Amino acid sequence: MSLQGRVVFITGGGRGIGRAVALAMAGAGARVAVAARTEVQVEAVAAEVRALGVDALALACDVTSADAVGRAVGRTLEALGPVDVLVNNAGIAESALLTRTDDALWARTIGVNLTGTFFCMRAVLPSMIARGFGRIVNVASIAAKVGFPYTAAYCASKHGVLGLTRAAALEVATKGITVNAVCPGWVETDMTADSIARIVEKTGRPAADARLSLERMSPQHRLIQPEEVAHIVLMLASDAAHGITGQAINVDGGEVMA
Ligand code: NDP
Repeated sequence: MSLQGRVVFITGGGRGIGRAVALAMAGAGARVAVAARTEVQVEAVAAEVRALGVDALALACDVTSADAVGRAVGRTLEALGPVDVLVNNAGIAESALLTRTDDALWARTIGVNLTGTFFCMRAVLPSMIARGFGRIVNVASIAAKVGFPYTAAYCASKHGVLGLTRAAALEVATKGITVNAVCPGWVETDMTADSIARIVEKTGRPAADARLSLERMSPQHRLIQPEEVAHIVLMLASDAAHGITGQAINVDGGEVMA
């Protein structure tokens, strides 16, 4: 799966799944723009990408700002070229009962996970349409397909990402552009470590027990590794995946079969 000559723009690329995607794309020969808020993290991932022998650009960008997204896409155009592949991976996950979900938590979650994804798609699509090629991969979640308690805002945002993915896929189906989602189960990243810490804090259970309860949600009794998600993102970004659009592929060890 060569991405030689392609320019990839990855949000939330500073750690976790986004970092793994950046390295997988670079391994396939793509030039990579890595965007997130924490400058030191995007710089570090860009340095790892350059060490693989391909161009990389580190971008401090908050996806909740349409202006910031526009500037980041503009800088990518200047430094690397127009974006061929957009990976919307930036995301946040907080837990709260619906009745305790305050306005700020709701707005924050929808703002990053859903509106941020929309801003990035809107920023890159005109150039993809003009050039007759594009790949958009949205990192959603199995929480885009089924509900989970204590995560109403997160589930709503990720269900929204799936709707956005499907609508966009139809709009650009004849333009050489595909739009798909990847839906991971629990992945071994800081986000999951934070969830384990919250379970410990709320229940007093040992961290190992809390981790086991997440592992046991998967029929494979394990957490997914970020590289496993990156592999599917890379596949969807490849030229050969032109026939796959509007899909949402689970990487969850069989937890959700829909
Ligand atoms: P991490 O918390 O490890 O990484 C999240 C990334 O998103 C960071 O680089 C973070 O950087 C970035 N980010 C957060 N807010 C913003 C923002 N406003 N603007 C730009 N970047 C932002 O999480 P994961 O790697 O685990 O998650 C990546 C994606 O995968 C998310 O969309 C998540 O919902 C999804 N996912 C994760 C699962 C898991 O179990 N871990 C399961 C299913 C889906 P910074 O804070 O510096 O901005």
